[in-house]
This record gives sequence, structure tokens and C-alpha cells, in this order.
Amino acid sequence: MIRLSKSTITNAEKVSVSNVLDKEYLGMGDEVNKFENLLSDFIGSPAICVSNGTAALQLACQAVGIGLGDKVLVQSLTYVASFQAISATGATPVACDIKENTLTLNCIDAESRITPNTKAIMPVHYAGGVGDIDEIYQLAKRHNLRVIEDAAHAFGTEYRGKKIGCFGDIVCFSFDGIKNITSGEGGCVVTKDKKVLQKVRDARLLGVEKDTEKRFSGDRSWDFNVTSQGWRYHMSNIMAAIGIVQLERFPLLSVKRQDIYKIYNSIFHNHNQIKSIELDIENVIPHIYVVRIKGLKNRELLQKKMLELGIQTGYHYQPNHLLDFYRVRNENTLLVTDAIFPELLSLPLHPDLTKSDVHKVATSLIRLIANENL
Ligand SMILES: *Cc1c(COP(=O)(O)O)cnc(C)c1O
Repeated sequence: MIRLSKSTITNAEKVSVSNVLDKEYLGMGDEVNKFENLLSDFIGSPAICVSNGTAALQLACQAVGIGLGDKVLVQSLTYVASFQAISATGATPVACDIKENTLTLNCIDAESRITPNTKAIMPVHYAGGVGDIDEIYQLAKRHNLRVIEDAAHAFGTEYRGKKIGCFGDIVCFSFDGIKNITSGEGGCVVTKDKKVLQKVRDARLLGVEKDTEKRFSGDRSWDFNVTSQGWRYHMSNIMAAIGIVQLERFPLLSVKRQDIYKIYNSIFHNHNQIKSIELDIENVIPHIYVVRIKGLKNRELLQKKMLELGIQTGYHYQPNHLLDFYRVRNENTLLVTDAIFPELLSLPLHPDLTKSDVHKVATSLIRLIANENL
């Protein structure tokens, strides 16, 4: 079976985890501190590790004061995690449309949905590409909005020679099992805003003030104060032990992702029905390989036929404005999202795929599209 996505784990991760187990300090301590320092050096901005990417987004929203009655602009075509992170604070996610070529936020559509309650914009770096990031920051400036980048797909991506997270307002990454690097589960908040950093540090540990600093110096908080709502969202040393090794291996992992992406692109190049999205693959570390199959009417059958050939496929994502929990607050139709969604298909992309796997996936898809009534 050619899997759609998977973790890529070597003996080095196993040894690293085993060393933590031997020390019998599994919670948040030295390894998390080390992983945060390595991430900060790699990205070029301070990073704070949390239990997952959704928690990172929620804490980022909370740290800039987003809450009940506030609105946050976000593209509908994203994992429900982006929406849940916003609504977890009491705020309302406002579903926005996307651009056809990149499947990233359409700034004109987003701007048209701004009201006095709009406090932030959450661009999603779909597949790893940053879309109209400059326009998004200009829009945010015009309307005095915070920007919280959902960079769950974009770990390692560079823009204008800088890593995502090195510039901008607040940037959140995910290290779940299938992302560009993993720590089992996990994520981080990256920002140069000192106030936000301190709020996230405290909020991930139940709001216990300066508990992070205590734990990283081998101490514990007995006598402490709490001044705001916190959560149990910290990272464990076991997770960090995996993440540290994955970050060391990232140069190799990232090139493999790019190489696979380029092979797909070269095969689908000039195909009249199978269109890959626009992405600057020399600078993007891609998380998923997404095609739009023009005129596709029966994706379910296509996926079944691919599976019969031993190939898993998927689609990213079910638009959030169609989910019951969010539909009531977003009665709108989104022209581009609604039109494109049924034609999207994600093909296997992970570092353990061989060239022949990739060729098999691509040629199988081309053959099915040509011969079946799909
Ligand atoms: C994975 C993902 C998240 C959430 O990350 P978790 O670590 O799974 O909580 C958020 N947004 C997008 C677009 C994602 O793909």
C-alpha cells in the first residue's frame, strides 16, 4: 500500500526517546527547553512548544486578547483545527474564500467581510505555500488587525530568503505525526512579541506565572499566582526528544519532499485536466500534493479505484462553512471554494516514497481519468 502520508522515523528517534525514558523525567524539562532553543535558532525567532498545533493557534489568539464577540478571518478551506482554535476562545471564525491558483486566502474577499468586531486574520499556508502574504500584512495594517499565521503545513518554507516565522506577527506550527517534522504530537508558537511570548508560556501551564522558567531551571512552582485562564497545553520531554532528532534530519526530509513534488509536477505538466496548484517549490517545503481535476464528478469512485491499485488518496479539506457547527454563523456561499472543493485530490507525499511509487501514483491517476467515467 502506498500511504497518503506517514511519519518517517529512524533508530535515532528511538534512541532519543529511550534516553528520556531512562532519565525518568518525562514531563516538560530539559528536552523541551533544548527543542525550543533549536527551533528558535532554526527559524530565527523565539519558539514556544505546546501540545499540538491547534493549541498553538488557540493560545496565540488568546494572547492577543481575542475572545467572546470578536471575529477572526480565516479561509474556509482549512483543517477544522483552525476554526476550532478560534471558536475555543469564544470568538467567531469568519469563513473566507480562496484564490483559485494557490488555494490560499483571497484578500479582497477577506477585506469585504471586515466589521468593527474583526480583530485578527489567520492566513493558512496551504500545502506549504504562503499565498499573498504581503497583501495580508498590508490589509492587517490598514484595518489594525493582528495576524496569526497557520503555518501547520509550512515548516521550513522560506519567503524572500527568510524562514516562515522569522518575520511577521505570530506564526503557529504543528508537529503532528504527518507534518513536515513531528514530535509525535506537538506544535509551537513563534513570535518576536515579548508580551505574547510570556502569555503563551504561562497559558500552556494552566496560567501558573513563570512556571516555564522554574521547570527549565530544574525547579518547581509551589508558591505561585494565576491571573488568567490557562490550559494544560505544554509539551513533554518524550515529544521533544522526537522533535530534536527530526529537526536534525530536516535537511534530508525537506529535500525529499521537494523532489517528490517536482516529479509529480513534471508528469502532470501540460495535462489538460489534472492541474497542480501554484507553489514556489524551490522555496516551499510542501506538506501535501494537491491536484485539481477539472470536471471531476465522482471523487469517491476515483479514490476507490486508486485504493484498488494500492494507492491511498485524500482531500484537503472539507470546507468549514459547510460544517453544522460553523454553518449557522456563516450562511454565505463561497464561490471559488464551493466550485473547487469537489475537484480536489491529494496524492501521497512523504519522504519514504520511492521514485517508482510516485510514478505509479501519477500514471495510475492519468490512466483512470482517461479511461473511466469519473
Ligand atoms: C495539522 C493542522 C493544524 C493543527 O495541528 P495539530 O497539531 O494537528 O493540532 C492546523 N491547521 C492546519 C491547516 C493543519 O493541517
